[in-house]
Amino acid sequence: MYRTKTCGELRLSDAGSIVTLAGWVQRSRKMGGMTFVDMRDRYGVTQVVFNNESNAALCEQANHLGREYVIQVTGEVAERSSKNANLPTGEIEIIATELNILNKSDVPPFTIEDDTDGGDDIRMKYRYLDLRRPAIRRNLELRHKMAFEIRRYLDDKGFIEVETPVLIKSTPEGARDFVVPSRMNPGEFYALPQSPQTFKQLLMVSGFDRYFQIVKCFRDEDLRADRQPEFTQIDCEMSFVQQEDVLQMFEGLVKHIFKYVKDIDFTEPFPRMTWADAMKYYGSDKPDTRFEMKFVEIKDLTVGKGFAVLDDAPYVGAICAKGCANYTRKQLDQLTDFVKRPQIGAKGLMWVKLEEDGSIKSSVSKFYTEEELRTWAYRCEATKGDLILILAGETMKTRKQLCELRLEMGSRMGLRDPQKFSCLWVIDFPLFEWDDETQRYYAMHHPFTSPNPDDIDKLDSATGDVRATAYDMVVNGNELGGGSIRIHDAELQNKMFSLLGLTQEDAQYKFGFLMNAFKYGAPPHGGLAFGFDRFVSILAGLDSIRDVIAFPKNNSGRDVMIDAPSTIDQSQLDELALAILPTNKD
Ligand code: ASP
Repeated sequence: MYRTKTCGELRLSDAGSIVTLAGWVQRSRKMGGMTFVDMRDRYGVTQVVFNNESNAALCEQANHLGREYVIQVTGEVAERSSKNANLPTGEIEIIATELNILNKSDVPPFTIEDDTDGGDDIRMKYRYLDLRRPAIRRNLELRHKMAFEIRRYLDDKGFIEVETPVLIKSTPEGARDFVVPSRMNPGEFYALPQSPQTFKQLLMVSGFDRYFQIVKCFRDEDLRADRQPEFTQIDCEMSFVQQEDVLQMFEGLVKHIFKYVKDIDFTEPFPRMTWADAMKYYGSDKPDTRFEMKFVEIKDLTVGKGFAVLDDAPYVGAICAKGCANYTRKQLDQLTDFVKRPQIGAKGLMWVKLEEDGSIKSSVSKFYTEEELRTWAYRCEATKGDLILILAGETMKTRKQLCELRLEMGSRMGLRDPQKFSCLWVIDFPLFEWDDETQRYYAMHHPFTSPNPDDIDKLDSATGDVRATAYDMVVNGNELGGGSIRIHDAELQNKMFSLLGLTQEDAQYKFGFLMNAFKYGAPPHGGLAFGFDRFVSILAGLDSIRDVIAFPKNNSGRDVMIDAPSTIDQSQLDELALAILPTNKD
């Protein structure tokens, strides 16, 4: 046996027993006649003592241990004189009687501790060392536990996990597909699934009325923000359900996981907000509802006073930052710079301060009387000490800018506590999204999403106003998941394809298999998918999904550890009947 105990389990009650541990040298230090070695494994850290007086040869051997050497130590568990309350094993140490070096290690390129000196690039290049750090290890443990518990919940509810293929047909809608050339069929390509959407619908046609899969999905998108080209979904589908059934089932799952991981009880149903309200009050389809600060529209109060900026703007929106009237000129300038950043793109920021002494100050006081400014304040429910921030311009654009400003103020005011969780459903999404560039409609969710039955008669006459039976689960301003009730009628599905600008032939070429399946008794069905990486990162209190993924890619889609993507041999290209064109890089 390499070990009789792990480095995380010994306690004072074990004092006197003889144990053997195996693990890595976290650090070692010499103090007087003693050498102390902290030994680490997956379960924790234990202090080992080598005593020069009682065993000089062994101590000498210990003095030559380097960081990350793999060692095996036998000795007696003893009570420590100076205890470490921060360590579960902090009350004991091992008085070593035997030491075996199982393997040496080069000096690692960064310190393997929670507070590492390693930057992102170096940590990713040596990710296998990075994964030794307890903080990252705990993320993966959490991920495992959550996956296990999700399976338990869904199994309990009668869902079965079915694997769907990874080599499928390319039908890009929304994101770009990753494609894989077929050697056996030269000139033809598979695509990696952006999600198992059509397969899970086919499983419903097959009669598996409750399906799920924890599954890798692939999207070849520019990796802005916190995206990974391959990510994991908890993909689910149910038959004979309406929206309400799906919401209930998966609200249950989310509550179950919060209870299990965080011991948080959500006793009330999650609030529901229409997409239209989310945009109107928060300027986002994934509002952070940990704090209020809703948008207030004040256009009607601002017109006709000779201030062209507001007169000409179709939309004037305000937020009220409670208690921020004491913001200095410098702070207001910072906020102005913030909204003017190219990513946000506002032209300027206006403000009204309700001073503690009852007076009013404003960046637009040249154009508006105090009386007029008070009507704005009244509508914003602002009182003494509050600061009103105002943006104006084209409606949707300005709402998005105001959304960023609201989030920034939320952060500045400490209203976005990562330990507080605010979940809601956003419902009644539009079915279509108009794209100015290509002058056509796109499916806001995906082309299999069913229109709201009340809006079916508007499909041709007011296409852009048709609501979908689609819903998103939002947590702290993140989209945790989303789904829809699907079209299960071949004729309506055809209609949808044609509204999306697909010809009959296109639709047949891309989705013929699904349309055919729908001819053989497709049940009413619907479902959703959660972003599993995001779910774990939210519960781990992390901003990024990167550190809940064992081997993630960087912002250029590279795995810098294995150095992928990479070129392939000419012989491989020949076999695939592929030729590489020169690129800008050459
Ligand atoms: N397949 C969808 C997605 O990946 C989720 C769903 O509609 O179930 O967004």
